[in-house]
Amino acid sequence: MINVACPIIGERERRLVNDVLNSRILASGKYVSQFEQSFADYCGAKFGIANANGTTSIHTALLMFGVKPGDKVITTPFTFIATANSILFCGAKPIFVDIDPKTFNIDPIKLEETLKKEKNVKAAVIVHLYGLTCNMDAIVKLKKKYKFKLVEDACQSHGAEFKNKKAGSFGNAAAFSFYATKNMMTGEGGIVLTNDAKADKYGRQIINHGREGRSTHTVLGYNFRLTNLAAAIGIAQLEQLESWIEKRIANAKKYNEAFKDLEFLQTPYIPENCRHVFHQYTVRISSKERESFMKHLADKGVGSGVYYPCVIYKQPLYKKLGYKSGLCKEAEKAAMEVASLPVHPSLLAAEVDEIIKVVKSYKK
Ligand SMILES: *Cc1c(COP(=O)(O)O)cnc(C)c1O
Repeated sequence: MINVACPIIGERERRLVNDVLNSRILASGKYVSQFEQSFADYCGAKFGIANANGTTSIHTALLMFGVKPGDKVITTPFTFIATANSILFCGAKPIFVDIDPKTFNIDPIKLEETLKKEKNVKAAVIVHLYGLTCNMDAIVKLKKKYKFKLVEDACQSHGAEFKNKKAGSFGNAAAFSFYATKNMMTGEGGIVLTNDAKADKYGRQIINHGREGRSTHTVLGYNFRLTNLAAAIGIAQLEQLESWIEKRIANAKKYNEAFKDLEFLQTPYIPENCRHVFHQYTVRISSKERESFMKHLADKGVGSGVYYPCVIYKQPLYKKLGYKSGLCKEAEKAAMEVASLPVHPSLLAAEVDEIIKVVKSYKK
């Protein structure tokens, strides 16, 4: 079976992890601060706060910019549940805004409609889904006009660009995940980026029991720290990220070319000014056919996945909170129609060809 994801672990990762093991400094250590700085530099941000995972990173970012119980926070319903849960962790209320059906990302026109209707929106968590940045020109303009805090959920978009600027460099803060299947990984892990020195200082307290100095605790904090072991893997992975992204883009190009005339599926849309890093290569297929298409792939040894089969507000947890079906029509339609094919950098050329052959043989 050709899997949809496959983490790459090489000699460099092993050597740095061994170095940490030999040093016996397993928790906070030099690799953590080194990783924070290199990842922030890579994205064009001033500060990086290494975190336990992507979810704690979003949570930390919201707390850093003062999101508190009762606040309204806008987000998309077409994402991993962690995005909206992080808003709930703060005691705030998620307000869901529909997606643009072409990009799968939050629709700036609908975002403005919501900002006009809802007074005092405190923040928005936008998601650069599948490796494609949101329309950042439009969103940054709205941020200035309506004065809300902007958090980028860039958990799927390491290295993605909008007009030559990297994902994670547009908002008040950005959150990344280094979960095992992301474009780069540390097993579990995450980071918050910001350019705001005060927020950075507060964020470092939030992830470390609210500590200030050696043994003074001035705010309610958590233990959201990343380990030195994980950071060592992260440093090795970051060195290779660009070459892996190039492979993902090359694989996606081959698919786009091979599938462009197929009537039963729609290939991913790539806006001209964006660098799509293809965390997922996601096609659309009619909801009636998706299951048989995926079964055909599986029968021929090609793995595939659905990200995500259910919009967040239709999850039982959110239904209990009072959210109703039908809120975001495009997101609900996308949830019925998307399917992702393997696009990761460890695919062999022969496997890419095989996947193309298998996809094309559907309906023949
Ligand atoms: C992976 C992911 C998260 C959560 O990251 P974890 O490291 O698994 O906690 C949040 N949002 C999106 C869009 C993700 O893909």
